[in-house]
Amino acid sequence: MAGINGTTKLAGVIGWPLSHTLSPAMHNAVYRDLGLDWIYVPLAVADEVGLRRLVAAVRSMNFVGFNVTMPYKTAILDLCDEVATAAQMAGAVNTVHCSGDKLIGYNTDGRGMLEALERDAGFDPAGKRVAILGAGGAAGGAFVALILARSASITLINRDLGRAQELVERMEAHSVNISVEALMYAEAEQAVREADLVINATSVGMRPDDPCLVPAQWLSSNQVILDMVYGQQHKTALTLCGEAAGAFTLDGLGMLVCQGATAVDIWNESSQERTPREVMLDAARRELQSRPSVGEAR
Ligand code: NDP
Repeated sequence: MAGINGTTKLAGVIGWPLSHTLSPAMHNAVYRDLGLDWIYVPLAVADEVGLRRLVAAVRSMNFVGFNVTMPYKTAILDLCDEVATAAQMAGAVNTVHCSGDKLIGYNTDGRGMLEALERDAGFDPAGKRVAILGAGGAAGGAFVALILARSASITLINRDLGRAQELVERMEAHSVNISVEALMYAEAEQAVREADLVINATSVGMRPDDPCLVPAQWLSSNQVILDMVYGQQHKTALTLCGEAAGAFTLDGLGMLVCQGATAVDIWNESSQERTPREVMLDAARRELQSRPSVGEAR
């Protein structure tokens, strides 16, 4: 890549696998746009031993920060020197700022989701009822962001009920004054039907033949439906069912862009300039278009 020199600073994404990540395309495009002498690279590590070694190395290198994706959003918490309250509550860090000799962990997934909902759907979650499908890292980030945004009630629906209950109990420990509950799918009809916002924060939908996790008749035209899955060449079953019901639907690309832009806002702390979301969105779309379609050689 042109422009790399002896003073170029590093950023990147740690995860496994990283073959489908859009982050290098989005980040490098916006660094060029902002005139930042930074480069963003994929940092694929196969296990937690590799993660610890990599983070130790990052401490003595010229990093402004890095993102963390599946499967390390929880494991990275213990490797940070400080963790922002929202990320502690979510139990997930997806952005680390290398600030002086400290690694400071944040969760920009939740903030990115709120920004995308506002920007792309004009949706303000304050006072609204929300149903979240999933209880992993993405669901945790969304859960905390919606609590901080003062949603009226939030129901976490998960196959593994214990995982959802753990998140709910963690919020209770933070004296959260909002109605939160954990349910299995079979018990969730009323919560989904009554929700103003339905979020898919599971990985179901990534494959074209993945099912809709809730019956189509639970969805309605009063709802906003956010499917966090992004970058697929197909619409997810949840999106198709939502569209058929007349709901306002969004995929996860806007959220991805906003969480990435928020990470740049954090790393570029000395600048007053807000990271341009459109530049990152255009780069992500170009990257997606350049990829072979299903059936073509990869
Ligand atoms: P995790 O591995 O932490 O969590 C996965 C979740 O999916 C769990 O709740 C799991 O349920 C559920 N799940 C997996 N398979 C099934 C199934 N067959 N039926 C029902 N539930 C299932 O992953 P993340 O939370 O990090 O990511 C989840 C999704 O969100 C991914 O698609 C990811 O790409 C997307 N994402 C999008 C972002 C964006 O910016 N748009 C940001 C972050 C994530 P269980 O606990 O029962 O196993």
